[in-house]
Amino acid sequence: MSHTESRLRSIPAVERILQALGETGLPRPVVVSLVRRELAGLRGGDKVPPLDEILAQIRGALDGLRLSRIQPVINGTGILVHTNLGRSPLGPEVVKTLAEMAANYNNLEYDLAGGERGGRAGYLERNLALLCEAEAATVVNNCAAALVLILRHLATGERNEVILSRGELVQIGGGFRIPEILEASGAQLREVGTTNKTSLKDYEQAVSPRSGLILKVHRSNFFMDGFVESPSTERIADLARKCELPFVEDLGSGAMVPTEQIPGVEHEPTPMEVLRRGVDLVCFSGDKLMGGPQAGVIAGKAKLVTAVKREPFFRALRCDKLILSALQTTVELYLAGAGEKSMTGAASVPVLQMLEVSNDELRLRGENIVAALAGLPLEAGVGDGNAQIGGGTLPRSVVPSVAVNLVPKSLALEKFAVRLRTAAPPVVGYISEGRFKLDLRTIFPRQDDEVVRAIRTALANRQPGEAG
Ligand SMILES: *Cc1c(COP(=O)(O)O)cnc(C)c1O
Repeated sequence: MSHTESRLRSIPAVERILQALGETGLPRPVVVSLVRRELAGLRGGDKVPPLDEILAQIRGALDGLRLSRIQPVINGTGILVHTNLGRSPLGPEVVKTLAEMAANYNNLEYDLAGGERGGRAGYLERNLALLCEAEAATVVNNCAAALVLILRHLATGERNEVILSRGELVQIGGGFRIPEILEASGAQLREVGTTNKTSLKDYEQAVSPRSGLILKVHRSNFFMDGFVESPSTERIADLARKCELPFVEDLGSGAMVPTEQIPGVEHEPTPMEVLRRGVDLVCFSGDKLMGGPQAGVIAGKAKLVTAVKREPFFRALRCDKLILSALQTTVELYLAGAGEKSMTGAASVPVLQMLEVSNDELRLRGENIVAALAGLPLEAGVGDGNAQIGGGTLPRSVVPSVAVNLVPKSLALEKFAVRLRTAAPPVVGYISEGRFKLDLRTIFPRQDDEVVRAIRTALANRQPGEAG
């Protein structure tokens, strides 16, 4: 027997590994495929490690795989609309809707009175229009899809130029770059002005028989200061009307409430005010400051909304029953809460409630958490936090908040952070000024006990699969 053959023979059989692993919590084919891949990796090496080493490596890989399943996470970052953490969480009413709609048949495209095929989401569209104070509204999968759809409809053929200020050629988050979205939609970009200054004249001079629309894009995740100028929405709207061009604004966040009422937070333009100023069509996300499910709302002139809905592409971008019903409940909550004294009104939209909750309340929770950690090998205290909206919204706004500050006595901060992130459920915080911090604004009160438990476990002995 050659050296290679004997080496290969010493690689354990898949079945033997599976038995040694026992219950993994993952479907068997998933585990089998991982074990096969790990064992195949051994074939290339010089020496086959002992069984327990192989097992430890496979267990580590399984832990990593299990961790990568989409799962609930406790958000201690203080970033409310955290794109990496799924943006806006949904409130109890919306969750109830989702559960009911998921488990049952529904009248998605059925006219119950007539007993025949009916329109899709007519009630929702009506209410969305009402909420946005628009003639009409509709909804697709996300704001990017909404913009693509609008561009495909309005920038076509001989009139495919989109007039856009150079100051709004932005990139939002990963992979959403306005120039690329335009290109992918078959539109031709007609940049006007400069990065920091664009005048009405710049817009005026760009209008030609090739123009399809004037577009405004909310800068979202950055801001400009200093020698900056751009014409008001009203003046661009006047120009658009004069030239008989549609005027579209991509708002991004779509706040439905006056955000400036919250200390530390600036005014975020609402779809209502933008339409009032003369924009013909707006689009915005459902899961940013609106606090609903992932969606892209289009609202404005009835003629345009109807035409956009007739685009063949609309069919490819339409939302499913779960999203539509979750949005329906979200919009109803807003409409029911309108006129309430509190900014969030009766609307139990979690991101808004988190924005509004007082620091006194957060401090009290912080003190309870710290008390529950007494006797553990760490320094714990209640300190200041700086919450942010996130999701490319109001980058300048910092909401004073409250954080639990933690410094383990015999564990490096980095390692402590890893242990909390890999806990069940995972807890994500941040390190600042030599402390591990959990901002309580983005942690639900019902999660406080879980946070305490996760900290307790993280401080216990070395975790399985963790390097010395
Ligand atoms: C966030 C954002 C988008 C993308 O929205 P999605 O719903 O994630 O597709 C588009 N435009 C602007 C201005 C944004 O801020």
